[in-house]
Amino acid sequence: MQPDLLLPPGERLGWAIVGLGDFACNQILPAFAACGRSKVTAVVSGDRAKAERVARQYGVPAHGVYTYETFDQIRDNPEIDVVYIILPNAMHAEYTVRAAQAGKHVMCEKPMAPTGAECRRMIDACAEAQRKLMIAYRAHFEPHNVEAQRLLREGAIGELKLIVADHARLLDPQQPQDRWRTQRELAGGGALVDIGIYSLNAARWFTGEEPTGIQATEFSTPGDERFREVEESISFVLRFPGGVIANCLASYGVERCKRYRLLGSEGWLDLDPATEYHGNRLVVGTAKGHEERIVAAGNQFAREIDHLSECVQENHEPQTDGLMGLRDVELIQAIYQAAGITGGEQTRER
Ligand code: NAD
Repeated sequence: MQPDLLLPPGERLGWAIVGLGDFACNQILPAFAACGRSKVTAVVSGDRAKAERVARQYGVPAHGVYTYETFDQIRDNPEIDVVYIILPNAMHAEYTVRAAQAGKHVMCEKPMAPTGAECRRMIDACAEAQRKLMIAYRAHFEPHNVEAQRLLREGAIGELKLIVADHARLLDPQQPQDRWRTQRELAGGGALVDIGIYSLNAARWFTGEEPTGIQATEFSTPGDERFREVEESISFVLRFPGGVIANCLASYGVERCKRYRLLGSEGWLDLDPATEYHGNRLVVGTAKGHEERIVAAGNQFAREIDHLSECVQENHEPQTDGLMGLRDVELIQAIYQAAGITGGEQTRER
């Protein structure tokens, strides 16, 4: 990857942003300023006035403004190469398939979709259209995470033995972006699908293996309306074939915490925070003591976006592809099952 390559505007790929919510407007659209291979050429929203306002802010031409009803007309816009889907989780499959059928490459937010069947539909639609599909696992492009992976591979902490990974925040349905997250039909699950997925994906990424053993338990405060349909807290333990055990927590009911620690036979790597938008930190500990590793800051969103543009331009597969997204979704279902929450029947009396 060449994250610092700056192509002239005419050689950059054009991106359509679908869904102008919190994450799209506050993180993704501003990140294009740091991109070298990608530019915004279209926006898609249910709110036409908002779409026009955002289009003006980012220099998107009037013919690059779409609604969900006119979305399929992107097929006729040669200025759009890639579609970035930033909608509630249950809408990812529909818009990925429609984008692929319109002949566009797709970046889709995590979690890929609520079910494995939807993920397979997304993979098949992109394969059939011969378009790339990438799932937006930004940690794979975040400099502290990348450095931790490099240190691990070069043996800085000996043999990896244990992973502890926690992701938590307070769910606040007063905020529009948290309203649909309380609804199983739109979110597909609670803390696990939204933020616990970072712990799950990190455990797979750092071990380079697939878990063969899963244990889990969950708890949701009785009478708390936020957790009528989706789980509040879940604890899961993954056992990997090489012997690593990952102990993970995800919660919507406690203060913000996004960290992991990789424990090896000769030391540990502490990422705390590990998956914030900004301000992540990496500390390396060995028998000699511990020290913070200063890592050059880089815009993880811009790197992620440019990675897909590079894959399209140079015809290789994204590091975080549809199969990675599918596997996480299948494991999420297995974790729910281990916790006694069985597929699709998660609304129940508490
Ligand atoms: P949001 O609610 O702020 O944005 C969702 C957008 O979809 C809104 O503009 C909303 O108007 C639109 N929408 C269209 N149909 C809708 C419907 N039926 N119900 C509700 N909204 C509808 O949410 P968000 O926090 O921006 O999350 C969007 C996606 O991005 C999710 O998949 C989420 O997991 C993902 N996300 C990823 C990260 C990350 O760090 N990678 C961070 C936040 C969110």
